[in-house]
Amino acid sequence: MKKRNAAMVCFSGGQDSTTCLFWAKKHFAEVEAVCFTYGQKHALEVEVARRIAEGANVPFQVLDVSLISQLDPNCSLINNQIKMDEEKPADSYPNTFVPGRNMVFLTFAAILARSKGIYHLVTGVSEADYSGYPDCRDTFIRSLNVTLNLAMDEQFVLHTPLMDRDKSEVWELADELGVFDLVRTQTLTCYNGVLADGCGHCPACKLRKAGLDSYLSRRNK
Ligand code: ZN
Repeated sequence: MKKRNAAMVCFSGGQDSTTCLFWAKKHFAEVEAVCFTYGQKHALEVEVARRIAEGANVPFQVLDVSLISQLDPNCSLINNQIKMDEEKPADSYPNTFVPGRNMVFLTFAAILARSKGIYHLVTGVSEADYSGYPDCRDTFIRSLNVTLNLAMDEQFVLHTPLMDRDKSEVWELADELGVFDLVRTQTLTCYNGVLADGCGHCPACKLRKAGLDSYLSRRNK
């Protein structure tokens, strides 16, 4: 049976997807979360995600797609031997880019959601993302939405509530949703696996902190 008012959130326990989880809870009667493992170094991510989902009363499922790391071991999020790019190289993507990741995640999420009668999918990708990953772009999401519909002869709707928001505006949305403190203290964004405010020097921490500082200075005006 098709559930018209239900959504599946691609959920990693980070700032962005946690904000999306609560955005989904506001907009849909039923919300489920799916978390992907793909050989990322920080398995803690999954436990963080599980804890947040449980706290939010959201059914939580983990899918192992570690095949993706066998296909391309050159990503610093997966391979301990590779030093993480702290800046974006001039002529390519930083080695934190996992080729095809969002396509794989959303495709598996769609198959799983369909089996439960869920056709709304929510993902925290943003074009304002600092690295400009190709699979975070709106044009890719629209294209994949069409492809998923054609592939399964269904009418999926891919939601990207953060698409046009920079990190400061993601903090603002969390605040509007009443989960600013939860996002600040319980999420894991840091590439070095440190909860909340993180290690402070990896690209993800720098981005998160710059966004937070910017939002707080606006809010406190
Ligand atoms: Zn960090």
